[in-house]
Amino acid sequence: MKYFRFTALLQSQGWLQPAYVGVDANGRVGYLSNQPPAEPAALETAEALVLPGFPNAHSHAFQYAMAGYAERHPPGSTDDFWTWRQTMYRCALSLTPDAMEQIAYACYRQMLLHGYTHVVEFHYLHHDEQGKPYANPAEMGERLIAAAARSGIGITLIPVFYQKGGFGQPALPEQRRFICPTPDAYFRLLDDAQRAVKHYDRAALGFGVHSLRAAEPAAIKEIMRHASADMPFHIHAAEQKKEVEDCLKHIGKRPVGWILENLPAGSNAHLVHCTHLCNEEVHNLAASGAHVVLCPSTEANLGDGIFRLKDYVNAGGQFSIGSDSQIGLNPLEELRWLDYTQRLTTHQRSTFADGGLTLMRQVIFSGRDAAGLTSDDFFETGHSFDALVCYTSPDFRFQADDALARLIYHTAAVAGVRTLLSGRWAD
Ligand SMILES: [Zn+2]
Repeated sequence: MKYFRFTALLQSQGWLQPAYVGVDANGRVGYLSNQPPAEPAALETAEALVLPGFPNAHSHAFQYAMAGYAERHPPGSTDDFWTWRQTMYRCALSLTPDAMEQIAYACYRQMLLHGYTHVVEFHYLHHDEQGKPYANPAEMGERLIAAAARSGIGITLIPVFYQKGGFGQPALPEQRRFICPTPDAYFRLLDDAQRAVKHYDRAALGFGVHSLRAAEPAAIKEIMRHASADMPFHIHAAEQKKEVEDCLKHIGKRPVGWILENLPAGSNAHLVHCTHLCNEEVHNLAASGAHVVLCPSTEANLGDGIFRLKDYVNAGGQFSIGSDSQIGLNPLEELRWLDYTQRLTTHQRSTFADGGLTLMRQVIFSGRDAAGLTSDDFFETGHSFDALVCYTSPDFRFQADDALARLIYHTAAVAGVRTLLSGRWAD
């Protein structure tokens, strides 16, 4: 067993201080205590605070290739989600399988260096440049898994059912690489992806539908009927106001309202964004046991709007975070965004009364659920030792009550970070 000693390590009920961690040959925690091991052992010491590795509950790896390249537009023209989407389509149409793997590897590597140790990849770039399935229909999914394996990050692949161009609209030519015309075609893809995840011991599979605007309601219901209830289910919902208006016009319901009424959206359902909710949806969503995946930096970058986190949390709702378009790859920054958007809109301060512990519990446990992983605490014996190790500024003095809040809110408190993956430094 290899041993570490840290200043403190965060568990779901608070800090363990100091923290001694023993890691076995497979990278799993074998010893966890505030006392040194009884047997004499060499210790690697880090004067640093240890957070659990973050699950990234929503990613489109290929968009790493365009992150920061869609910020200019002709003077006088409109720049919004829908114009950004055109740039995203051009990016998606240009990628070969080799390019996909390279971009995903670079993206996953950056996620790791910033503290994400598992990624949920919401994957819809299935087909070749002409829109024809590859000889191996799961080619692109396999490339994403290969990229994850090379980087070492854990991955839950969510092959996504994408059928249409919008409510009542056929698919656009520029969406041709995404399209599965029928649920049966999607199930074949899912079967192939199931085989692909077996090649990597940190890979798992989920299932998903792009959104209500990209699939017929009857097809979504069929997918939910046939897919395994053991796997996480992911769907984008109510990201843009126009999407909510179009949904009302075409199916007579708001997206989240429709999902809650028509799908068995229980604890394995993860609804991404949910930016525009009415009061009824906030309460029904929280009561349903389903989770919301929030992507604060992407939602800000795309001008989506602000999720009603405070109301949702008060109603008992669960949530995780995701990097989505890859414009932000720093989980601590996502946490700040989550809380600060609430402060800016409610004109009050802390959304969470306990200095960030509730926030951490939500994004770690709900994020692990989103990936199909289970756990009872941030760190547990028998589980892979995946951690974000935060080195603090020279004037930082550890005090258990405020240490986490300072890491999250005081941007100068963290002087640098390193990531441990299965007990090994990732850099
Ligand atoms: Zn997304």
